[in-house]
Amino acid sequence: MQDKVYAGGDASSVPLMGKSAEPTIFELSAKGRTAFSLRTQEVPVRDPKETVPESLLREKVVELPEVSERDLVGHFTRLSSRQYAVDLGAYPLGSCTMKYNPKFADQVATTSGLYDIHPLTPDSHAQGWLELMATLERYVCEITGMAEATLQPAAGAAGELTGLLIMGAYHRSYGRKRTKVIIPDSAHGTNPASVTLAGYEAVTVPSNDRGLVDLEHLRKLLDDDVAGMMLTNPNTLGLFEEEIHQIAEAVHSVGGLMYYDGANLNAIIGITRPGDMGFDIVHSNLHKTFATPHGGGGPGAGPVAVTAELAPFLPGPKPALVMEDGIERYRWVTPQASIGKVHGFFGNAVVLARALSYMLYNGFDGLKAVSQYAVLNANWLRKMVSQRYDIPYSQTCMHEFVASAQRLRKEGGVKALDIAKALLDNGFHAPTVYFPLVVDEALMMEPTETESLQTLIVLAERLNALAELATTKEGQSQLHEAPVNTPTRRVDEALAARKPRLTFDQPANH
Ligand SMILES: *Cc1c(COP(=O)(O)O)cnc(C)c1O
Repeated sequence: MQDKVYAGGDASSVPLMGKSAEPTIFELSAKGRTAFSLRTQEVPVRDPKETVPESLLREKVVELPEVSERDLVGHFTRLSSRQYAVDLGAYPLGSCTMKYNPKFADQVATTSGLYDIHPLTPDSHAQGWLELMATLERYVCEITGMAEATLQPAAGAAGELTGLLIMGAYHRSYGRKRTKVIIPDSAHGTNPASVTLAGYEAVTVPSNDRGLVDLEHLRKLLDDDVAGMMLTNPNTLGLFEEEIHQIAEAVHSVGGLMYYDGANLNAIIGITRPGDMGFDIVHSNLHKTFATPHGGGGPGAGPVAVTAELAPFLPGPKPALVMEDGIERYRWVTPQASIGKVHGFFGNAVVLARALSYMLYNGFDGLKAVSQYAVLNANWLRKMVSQRYDIPYSQTCMHEFVASAQRLRKEGGVKALDIAKALLDNGFHAPTVYFPLVVDEALMMEPTETESLQTLIVLAERLNALAELATTKEGQSQLHEAPVNTPTRRVDEALAARKPRLTFDQPANH
């Protein structure tokens, strides 16, 4: 085993600190403590009853925690060290692209003047921001092979809904009523959810025995009710849809549009483009591919790019370069048949700044290398674990692959969940489990391009050692017990999902 590991793969990276329960911030509260001090008051204090309408006044003073700055920082620092994080080690959570986000992007995005500008600043005083957004829009279009984009959607799912609303507006402009959207059975869960939310019926097309869209079956589903098809390519099995041109042609032949779920572009940047594959609408998660941390509740950004034909329907306003009195300026302009706004102001602007700085820093060659290394790392890991785990679709994968713990379960009762939990004890975040649904006991792994060979060697060793452990009685009971090294052991996931405790129900003890 390698003894020098750059990141992750070391039992010492299991967050061990504070195994005892961390009190809630309400329990740390003591009356009268504050984490701030106001400067001398320059404005006279007025009774809220004089300034706030009575209907909006609270009856009781709200109970907020009262803590000193020291207690506050200590509390959140302790909490952060009880959590596995992308800054701590490898996080091979398939489909989620939990890759390390370089710090320079944060530095750029938090530059004074960029970061602290007021969203109501008139466009004449925010020319830099408008230029930044216009430039990012151009790059997103270049990367995806589209004509125009909106940067407003707050995440991938928000992008999907935006794209589907554009799809609907397009069909209505031709007086067509379309009711169905086709989705493969391997699709991400947000796809059917967005389709339903947009008012369409989601129709599933099955995968063939190679894990790809069954083209013959698709042809049977196509008729005048089909508004379009949503597809991820590479799909959620990490496989490239080789018949993508035939798929796009078939959907277009009934007047449908092709929607590309480009949540993860980590396998294709600089290599191929959704536009060249025949897609009409693309969303991309800047928080997966372009230097914004993903997970933990955001904020993210899911720009939607479209062909020239669909551009009039994009949400507005968008930055546009216009000629005024012989001078070029950026102005906010709303497309002529716009579906309207999908986000307050202009989207999650800081995420946009991070993405642009990441693109500029890497350049075209750098972004292409990101994809090449992501694909190389995924294939390397796939090969390294393929003796101990079944790989149901074993052709060359893209940025991720799906293994199965089916054999381990049949032979010794060890499930994908047990392997995932035990991996936490071994210094790595767990892979995605039980998704996509088309693979039994799925372990979906996406090592990403940011992990070194040394880290991947240790990850493969640990995964294989756990599979080995699953063959002995003693090992099996050990695996059922895992994790033992984390601040929280196994939680009752059904109870946590069905009866979540979302509030702290003991009143603060003042
Ligand atoms: C992550 C992901 C989404 C959803 O993106 P969010 O930003 O989490 O809403 C959609 N499709 C695919 C394929 C994804 O991986």
